[in-house]
Amino acid sequence: MKRVTVFGSTGSIGQNTLDLIARAPQDYDVVALTGGRNITQLAADARRLGAQVAVTAHDDLLEDLRAALAGSGVAAAAGQAALIEAAARPADWTMSAIVGAAGLAPGMEALKQGATLALANKESLVTAGPLLMATAARHGARILPVDSEHSAIFQALAGEDIAAVERIIITASGGAFRDWPLERLAAATLAEASSHPNWDMGQRITIDSASMFNKALEVIETREFFGVDPDQIEVILHPESLVHALVGFRDGALMAHVGASDMRHAIGYALHWPERRDLPVARLDLAAIGTLNFRAPDPARYPALRLARDVMQRGGLSGAVFNAAKERALDAFIAGRIGFLDMAGVVEDVLTRMSSESGLIDAEITLDTVAHVDHLARIRADEAMQAKAG
Ligand code: NAD
Ligand code: MG
Repeated sequence: MKRVTVFGSTGSIGQNTLDLIARAPQDYDVVALTGGRNITQLAADARRLGAQVAVTAHDDLLEDLRAALAGSGVAAAAGQAALIEAAARPADWTMSAIVGAAGLAPGMEALKQGATLALANKESLVTAGPLLMATAARHGARILPVDSEHSAIFQALAGEDIAAVERIIITASGGAFRDWPLERLAAATLAEASSHPNWDMGQRITIDSASMFNKALEVIETREFFGVDPDQIEVILHPESLVHALVGFRDGALMAHVGASDMRHAIGYALHWPERRDLPVARLDLAAIGTLNFRAPDPARYPALRLARDVMQRGGLSGAVFNAAKERALDAFIAGRIGFLDMAGVVEDVLTRMSSESGLIDAEITLDTVAHVDHLARIRADEAMQAKAG
């Protein structure tokens, strides 16, 4: 029996993870499930899968969660400390699928067990990549990538020497607005930005796909996880979302990972690694698909990609600044306070300003310094948005 914990179990990645686990309940011993405000889902899953504990991130929901779990034998807990405690419960495999910077601390705690962390939470690598990788190494823990592009790269690298890699190409669908004229983007609504042509994902990553901030995070994630140089990483638009990434080797060969746009591919690979097992994903009919398209992303349309290059060049805590400013700008877009195209401007303002504050982004990367610059970047983002509004 594999002991498994799922952080963010009520979300899109979390539900896909539970789907795979529930198909073979005899193989898994569910330790902890965690969620946010969706207590009904959290409690139902914890009961159904016989979890030891269910944790909501919100203290005020503890009584509701207790009530929903009454008589089930599943313990209820709430708040940040409870999330960290859940991460410390012995498990062989932990899924990190909280969205945003909030996923970092539980993932770090789980690594201390020296087991396996399946990492969907790309923000962990963007905000604190060197710290996360060093913590895994120190405790003998393994991190398996779950982002589809990174799982694809990881699979293309199996049995290969990373020193023979010349380039890594990650694909981008282009999100909701890939075929919109640039002039229309400023007026894009929340509903329009929240629907993805190929993938069914959480709302935040869906909007980040339309703005290409998701790909920007993934470029940084690639650098941090695989340790390649920024100029070895390329982004290509691929509207079909069937080729997830390609690795180019020194002999000119490109190894591509091709599969349906279904996150259970990457989740299942991480769940069963190093084996491959049957997965309930669609098999591609290449003759029916016929054509795969690729084109270069237009830099004028996607400032987020340029900002990612900037972050990799600055290094240090600039990833934490970038991510926090982006999260805050995204909050404001979702709340209807700023327009779709304003998000990149806010992030750039905050990056420029905080990079010039002496010693700030060059400080050592620790959970405390990440939390500090994250907090400051959100304040600076609010200031930038107020300045614009006023
Ligand atoms: P989601 O919004 O659907 O789910 C997020 C989960 O995190 C929920 O369980 C929610 O309750 C929990 N959560 C939210 N804020 C929290 C907080 N402050 N503290 C504790 N828990 C909190 O998100 P998702 O689409 O499943 O994405 C999860 C992560 O996986 C993100 O980092 C995302 O970038 C990454 N990812 C997602 C997909 C996808 O297909 N959805 C693909 C690749 C990578
Ligand atoms: Mg991805």
